[in-house]
Formats: sequence, C-alpha cells, structure tokens
Amino acid sequence: MHAVTLIPGDGIGPEITEATKRVIEATGVDIKWDICKAGEEVFEREGTPLPQDTLDSIKKNKVALKGPITTPVGKGFRSVNVTLRQTLDLYCCLRPCKTFKGARTRFENIDLIIVRENTEDLYAGIEFEKGSDITNKLIKFIIDSTGKTIRSDSGISIKPISIYATERIVRFAFDYARKNNRKKVTAVHKANIMKYSDGLFLDTARNVSKRYNDIEFEDKIVDNMCMQLVQKPEFYDVIVLPNLYGDIISDLAAGLIGGLGLAPGANLSNEIAVFEPVHGSAPKYKGMNKVNPLAMILSGVMMLKHLGEGEAAKRLENAIEKVIEEGKYVTYDMKPKSDDPTAATTSMVADAIIEKLI
Ligand code: NAD
Repeated sequence: MHAVTLIPGDGIGPEITEATKRVIEATGVDIKWDICKAGEEVFEREGTPLPQDTLDSIKKNKVALKGPITTPVGKGFRSVNVTLRQTLDLYCCLRPCKTFKGARTRFENIDLIIVRENTEDLYAGIEFEKGSDITNKLIKFIIDSTGKTIRSDSGISIKPISIYATERIVRFAFDYARKNNRKKVTAVHKANIMKYSDGLFLDTARNVSKRYNDIEFEDKIVDNMCMQLVQKPEFYDVIVLPNLYGDIISDLAAGLIGGLGLAPGANLSNEIAVFEPVHGSAPKYKGMNKVNPLAMILSGVMMLKHLGEGEAAKRLENAIEKVIEEGKYVTYDMKPKSDDPTAATTSMVADAIIEKLI
C-alpha cells in the first residue's frame, strides 16, 4: 500500500482531482489517500493558504498529488505553489510534453522534456514594494554603488541564480537524459543581457555538461528558443531552464501538444515528489464539470511510475491514449470548436478511461 497526500486545491482543482482519484483507484493500485487542504477556501477559514498539517503530510508520505491553487494577483497571500516548492526544496519541475494521436495540434511527434529550476530566479520571492523605506534605501544603495539610475517610484524584484542550484538542476537534466535514453540537453538563458545571473547559469551548465560526454549539449537564448520551438520542435529533446523561462516555455510546449489540458508535471526534491498539472485553477470554469482532467490524470501516471507501479501506469496511459484517439469522450478544449455540444464532461472523461482500463 502507498500513502499519498492528496491536495484537491481550489478553482477547478477539486473536480479534476476527483476524476483523477477515481481512475487511479480503478487501476487497482492500493493507495491510502491523505486528503489535505490548501488554497483560497482554507485561507478564508484558517488565515493561511497552506496549513502546517498539509506540509507535515507531504513530508511524511514523501509523495503528493496536487490540484491547482489560485494565486491572487498583486494582493492577498503569496503563491502556495512557490511556497511549497521553496519550503520542501522541490528544486526540479519536470514537465514531459508529448503529442497524443488524435489530439488536435499543429504539430506531430513532439516529445519534449522540460526541466525547470524551481527555487530561485525572479520567483525567489525577494521583492521590494514601491515607496517603502527599505526600497528607498535599496535604490539609494544601487545608485551610490553602481552609478545607475532607478526611478524612485519603482518596485524591485531580485533575481538570484546560484552555482549550487544550477548545478543540481542541470545534473538532473543530464541524469534524466541518460536514464531515459535521450540524446540532447539544451540549456536556455539570456546570458547576453544578464551576464551575472543567466551568465552564471550558462557557465555552470557548460561545466556540468563536460561530465556527460555521451549526451549532446547545446545552449539557446530564450527568445530564439521560443521561435525554434514553434518552427522545429522536433530538434529538441531535454530542455533545462531557470525558473521564469521554464514557466513560460512550459506553457508554450503545452500549446504545441494541444493545450494545457494535456500537460502533466512533477515537482521533485531528492526525497519528495509532488505531482500536479501544468495548468492553473481556471476559476471561471470552477464547479462546471467541464474542464479537461487529463493533465492531472497524466500527472497521476507519472506518480504511479514514481511509486514503482510501472505496469499500472502503462495500463492507465494506454487507456488515456485510446480515449484521446477515439475522440468521443474528450472535453471542449480538445474539440475543433470550444462550444461543441458533443464535448464530454470532466467526469465522463474519467468514466471513459476507466472503461478502457484492462
Ligand atoms: P490557467 O491555467 O488556470 O487557465 C488558463 C486557461 O487555460 C483557462 O482559462 C482555460 O481556458 C485553459 N485551461 C486551463 N486548464 C484547463 C483544463 N484542465 N481544461 C481545459 N482548459 C484549461 O491559468 P491562469 O488563468 O493564468 O491562472 C488561474 C489561476 O491559477 C491563477 O491564480 C494562477 O496563479 C493559478 N495557477 C496555479 C498553478 C498551480 O497551482 N500549479 C499553475 C498556474 C497558475
């Protein structure tokens, strides 16, 4: 039996979590779910969006499956997702992006692995609010020590990139490539402009690559990478990026394979694994039983593999492939038109997968 922390999250989280739980249970794998709260509702009740019980449960079980959680823009609580990644040192965000036969995409045969650094960069949470005393002091310090100007009405976010965090994420990318028979790792950066942060990322990646002679290494500037991925995605294999570019390129890659409804992910430390879809809580669809549960179900497939349940993971993946290829029980986002009256509901997709599980 496996003990797993289950965090339904908020917005569309609870409905896709329910669908995912049902299909995983239908594989026959014995899981004891520890259902824990995080997000908007618990914040309103308990004053924190991430209760200590939830953190303790993940630390104890070491494996969690998580629905999306809303982050209020510019006010309210800080991102629970960022806090979780930082508190548990989930330094790696692993996002496979693969085309499924039958999914509506502009591209075929995409098979990319996005490896995103998860703990530093502009997401480190080191921010200085416009007009505060400390921000004014910081601005003065920067002007005095660099001679550069910063307008007094600026807000400031700090972008730390370290050798330590870069080494471990790039090592992860190469080790993943080796274990999974991948041929190339591409490091993405903007080192031409940010010499001391992205420049350090690139130098460190180059140094790590020297220890992996069996795998090709190259680097790309992030703006060029965006164009390359849209023009010739088949040239790329494993892509390793600092946090912000990783976030953006993950959504771009999701677009290549048919949208966010199909993009799964995992946040990993050396001990703990939290599986979650790439997409957010899509609040406008909350409670409508309408959205695509496949990104979260595919995150569940990743989780089963991680738990050593490779056979069940394969069966579930096959059932998902059949449902997508058949195209009958898929949600609105996978239909040619989003108002297609034949679109399946979230729970119908789960039922169809369960039916195909053998
Ligand atoms: P989003 O991913 O929630 O939604 C963007 C759009 O993508 C939706 O309007 C919808 O059209 C589509 N979409 C997303 N998931 C879908 C699904 N399963 N099926 C069908 N269509 C789907 O992005 P957003 O609107 O920028 O963010 C909403 C909230 O989610 C924000 O508060 C954001 O901070 C949060 N968020 C959370 C996570 C996470 O929990 N890991 C990740 C990203 C965003």
